[in-house]
Amino acid sequence: MKFWHEEARAIEDREFLMIPGPVSVDDEVLEALARPVRAHYGDAWTQLYKHAVAGMRQVFRTEGEVHLLFGSGMAGVEMCIASVLGPGDEVLVAANGLFGDRMAEVATANGLRVHIVRPGLAEPVTAAMMRDALASHPDVRAVCVVHHETSVGILNEVEGICRAAREHGALTIVDGISAVGGVPFEMDAWNVDLCVTVANKCIGGAIGVAPVAAGPRALEALADGRAKAAGWYLNLATWKRFSEEWSGWHPHPTTVPTNVIEAFDVALTGLLDEGVENRWRRLARARDRVREGLEEMGFPMLSPVATASPVTTAAYGIPGMNIPDYMGWLLREHRIRIGGGLGELSGKIFRVGHMGRAAEPEAIDRYLRLTSEYIEEKRLSPARP
Ligand SMILES: *Cc1c(COP(=O)(O)O)cnc(C)c1O
Repeated sequence: MKFWHEEARAIEDREFLMIPGPVSVDDEVLEALARPVRAHYGDAWTQLYKHAVAGMRQVFRTEGEVHLLFGSGMAGVEMCIASVLGPGDEVLVAANGLFGDRMAEVATANGLRVHIVRPGLAEPVTAAMMRDALASHPDVRAVCVVHHETSVGILNEVEGICRAAREHGALTIVDGISAVGGVPFEMDAWNVDLCVTVANKCIGGAIGVAPVAAGPRALEALADGRAKAAGWYLNLATWKRFSEEWSGWHPHPTTVPTNVIEAFDVALTGLLDEGVENRWRRLARARDRVREGLEEMGFPMLSPVATASPVTTAAYGIPGMNIPDYMGWLLREHRIRIGGGLGELSGKIFRVGHMGRAAEPEAIDRYLRLTSEYIEEKRLSPARP
């Protein structure tokens, strides 16, 4: 008899994911998911949980606190925003895509007064833009920014934005969901106060945990006596309290997905064994390989390499190309899933992720070869400048 997971692997992972997350994971990660379920408390469990927390400190590059929130990335974003801010507080949100807009939505839903900085389509948010906006909104208490705006494959100037926020006396909240572990990021050196990421993007784990990191100013804000928007579960203060009071046996408030965290620890160990900086470089090389291959075939890139993310490549189609048809063909005929455009870029661009197994050179070469085959089959010719 075959177990379902052997079956799933036997058919070559069902779909090979080359989307900007979630990612196709290594076999060792799958094996950890398939182990017998363990309890979410006790000595061995607590040790494992703390091992993963310590590993994440190295990935965030922080001496601060890390909690492994059981939830999606947006749960972590909501936790960061709602734990340190309360109704009526003003925030400045950098929004150059879907996920920046989502941060603004979360802030609005939590009763905050939201000011938005919105650059042109497919342009990064710069420190200068945020500095100007802070000058016109002196009461802003926190700055929210997405590091890698995955919807357009662009990196925002997080380091400079954090510097501007610090000069203003505002907290910084960074959505590092598709960046941390894959893109140079320095929580402490850049003065980031709160940052969230997920297991299932650059770290190469399964879906289900959102590591949240908090620095000293964020922890101070938890206890500053002001009203906060957060309730109980998505409240960093709750997670902090349990990590202290139940530190020895159950260092989180609720049941957590033990298999997912075990698998996460395997992926994280792989990342630390490789070296965080080596991972950054390896993913950037994967980006270069995809970008060069596509450019050679005549695909115009959405953004220049200077602002393009090292973990996602966004490209326009070549003239006459039907992007949904191309994506459908890759999926149907070759079991490769790539991402499409979102919002006003829907149907106009496609996005290829370089995280997880999608960074493997063989996977990239196969994808490029198939793309070239598709172009020939459809008799499309490259754009000429
Ligand atoms: C994927 C992603 C999200 C959404 O994460 P969920 O886990 O779906 O909640 C948010 N922000 C960014 C930058 C992302 O890439």
